[in-house]
Amino acid sequence: MQFYYCPKDDTVRPKRRFADNRCDICRQECVTIDVKRSVHGYIMYALDIAAGIMIALYLAHHQFNADFASFVGTIDETLYIVVMFGLILISFVFSGLDIGRTQAEALRIARERKGRIQ
Ligand SMILES: [Zn+2]
Repeated sequence: MQFYYCPKDDTVRPKRRFADNRCDICRQECVTIDVKRSVHGYIMYALDIAAGIMIALYLAHHQFNADFASFVGTIDETLYIVVMFGLILISFVFSGLDIGRTQAEALRIARERKGRIQ
């Protein structure tokens, strides 16, 4: 995950795909900081994938009556939907944790690097 660090404001923000590398606040050029995703980020992906598979199976069974998804019909529908949305909800929580952690890490790396330059 990449962040921009503004040396003047001492802040980091997530790098946006189509944004330039200038600070939102002072328009000064920012430094790109690379941070490894935290374990929360990988949990988030896993939960998203699990929820995605559940949604696909749900649609396959209820919309298309697909044979491979017929077992979905044997599971309590309310329970299935609750678990499905539960996974998505927990994924949001982990996504928040991940951004918080990686952003703090980006700031730490940026300050360390800045300390070496000065
Ligand atoms: Zn700035």
